[in-house]
Amino acid sequence: MKLYNTMSKRKEEFVPVEEGKVKMYVCGPTVYNFIHIGNARPMIVFDTVRRYFEYKGYDVNYVSNFTDVDDKIIKKANEEGVSANEISARYIAECKKDMEGMNIKPATTHPLATQEIDGMLDMIGTLIEKGFAYEKNGTVYFRTRQFEDYGKLSHKNLDDLRSGNRSLLVSGEDEKEDPLDFVLWKPKKEGEPAWESPWSEGRPGWHIECSVMSKKYLGEQIDIHAGGEDLVFPHHENEIAQSEAANGKEFSKYWMHNAFLNIDNHKMSKSLGNFRTVREISGQYDLQILRFFMLSAHYRSPLNFSAELMEASKNGLERILNAADNLKYLSENAGKESMTAGEKEKLDQTAQFVTAFESAMEDDFNTADAIAAVFDLVKFANTTADAEGSKEYAEALYDLLVKLTDVLGLIVEKKEEILDEEIEALIAERQAARKAKDFARADEIRGELAAKGIVLLDTREGVKWKKA
Ligand code: AMP
Ligand code: ZN
Repeated sequence: MKLYNTMSKRKEEFVPVEEGKVKMYVCGPTVYNFIHIGNARPMIVFDTVRRYFEYKGYDVNYVSNFTDVDDKIIKKANEEGVSANEISARYIAECKKDMEGMNIKPATTHPLATQEIDGMLDMIGTLIEKGFAYEKNGTVYFRTRQFEDYGKLSHKNLDDLRSGNRSLLVSGEDEKEDPLDFVLWKPKKEGEPAWESPWSEGRPGWHIECSVMSKKYLGEQIDIHAGGEDLVFPHHENEIAQSEAANGKEFSKYWMHNAFLNIDNHKMSKSLGNFRTVREISGQYDLQILRFFMLSAHYRSPLNFSAELMEASKNGLERILNAADNLKYLSENAGKESMTAGEKEKLDQTAQFVTAFESAMEDDFNTADAIAAVFDLVKFANTTADAEGSKEYAEALYDLLVKLTDVLGLIVEKKEEILDEEIEALIAERQAARKAKDFARADEIRGELAAKGIVLLDTREGVKWKKA
């Protein structure tokens, strides 16, 4: 399996730190608003990367944080007259709803920066001890020039950076030894959330948060660290400096970055007013379509969001869903039960689609080509499975389609709709079964309803039900 490593600027063979395992950290959103469709890109892309590793049999430990202490959160809290915690808790909950809509698996761990302050105090202490950090008036800075490899990820030269950054010196920062030094800990301002520390009552800098959460949940060396390309510099460069200086070993073997999502060929920004949240999109489209749209391009290519492209994605996804529906129908209603020799031969031919799918994914997660392989399978299924064939053949094709689309996080199985009257009828039947002491049938009905997302509640007023 090959993946493009931003560090070496080329595709490299994936060799895990520990056999059979993938330790992966994806920088998560700062939670001060609903996530926008740009934030959704890394979520969808790296969830798909994770799913492919799992498909290949790897045990994936996937960590993605929520940055829940930040200037923007504090600003929003002040505007609304509520606590910063209230803002971050609200938008974490909303983000999780959006993730569910996009069929993004919950991470193995979703750490919160505010819950990891002790680890940050530890790492900052270690950096000071080792001479990689210093304190001035309650602020702790990382001594960038002390870390020899600084710039290795973004391929920036320290001297160029230094001359370029002199102009960036803002008032209050002239206490820094060097313009490139960055903040690890800063004292609080009035009304800001703060924690006790040996240097000042204050809060951590953004970069140290990820170094610490990655170390705590994945260990000192991980396989993949990922995020949008805007994070390469300074965020990831600074994370490397902190982690490698503190731990004395290589931080991450591979660095993956997705390109940006633009909107109608413009950069998405609040000032241009072309900012679209995932929640807004969910009012117009099933979020599966947004997911399909994101995966229709290679993750390292810029992607443009437009109404036409979303319509094209809708049609594309429908072709796959229709084929799945048809196969499902045939697997229940086709003329014969078992596969004929001819069908067996045809089924063998589908190996070519699996090979094409896997080759695309193993070439730096080329989801666009992987989707093309799925379309080829769909075409093959549409032309070779029909009512004259066997249920077994239709079912085998259906299972294969589900297996491949599941790697892409696309749900092709139709949720079975159930009408209120049918629910009531089944509940009545269950009551009758219980009266007749046919508890097996009563349990069976409960199970049947549960499979359709209906939960039964036995109350004093009788049986009530709700959708799970
Ligand atoms: P933020 O909340 O700004 O820290 O962003 C969370 C994640 O979304 C990071 O990985 C960013 O790189 C990524 N991101 C932000 N905007 C875009 C965009 N327009 N296209 C793709 N990724 C983005
Ligand atoms: Zn990060």
